[in-house]
Amino acid sequence: MTKRCAALHCAEPVAGYSTLCESHKRTLRRHGHALQKGITVLELKPFQDRISARRAKNPANPTWELLRGRWEALTAHAKATLDAYANGSPAISYERQTAEQLGTLRTTVSVDVVIDTALAMFLLLEQSPHRIMSDKAFNFQLARRVRGLAEANSSSSYSAKEGRIKRTYKDTPPRVLDCLAESLKVAFGIAGMRLAELEKKDVEGLKAERQQLSDALKDMS
Ligand SMILES: [Zn+2]
Repeated sequence: MTKRCAALHCAEPVAGYSTLCESHKRTLRRHGHALQKGITVLELKPFQDRISARRAKNPANPTWELLRGRWEALTAHAKATLDAYANGSPAISYERQTAEQLGTLRTTVSVDVVIDTALAMFLLLEQSPHRIMSDKAFNFQLARRVRGLAEANSSSSYSAKEGRIKRTYKDTPPRVLDCLAESLKVAFGIAGMRLAELEKKDVEGLKAERQQLSDALKDMS
């Protein structure tokens, strides 16, 4: 008898020796969890807006400059890895690919956009925990949203069927996504979690204020 896919509510047969069907296996590889749906640009936007608002409210706070410094250090290290590789030093394939992704981001995306996008992912995790299926899935979404900022990470191809140039995103190997996410977490994780806490307090403050108003209105004659 053919085994059924281990993913919840899936009745498809498993793919080869996997415990998952072909489709869930692909999702696991792309998103870090068989049931994880990709976080979209649109979905992340309100959280990025919150970070932008926080930045606008605290422009002189040293956090921003410290985070820029961390990104600079991280991408400079990546550049050094790539230079060494170009000069014949051996490099582990996924580490080299991660360095390439960081190098592309460094040259094509403004540092503040990278920072805001990474920090926004921590806000999303705090406020919409149901959207993230596991730690690994969070890593993959963090890496995917940040790498998606770089135009050069996508390539165009002509779709004969649709008669137009289509932009296609190269599938990044899972190990590269994981490695990229780890680098981003080292650089921005502490700030991301702290800002997520601040946002939570703000939301709770608003709720309490609304409750006070509603209570006060009840007493009004
Ligand atoms: Zn399945």
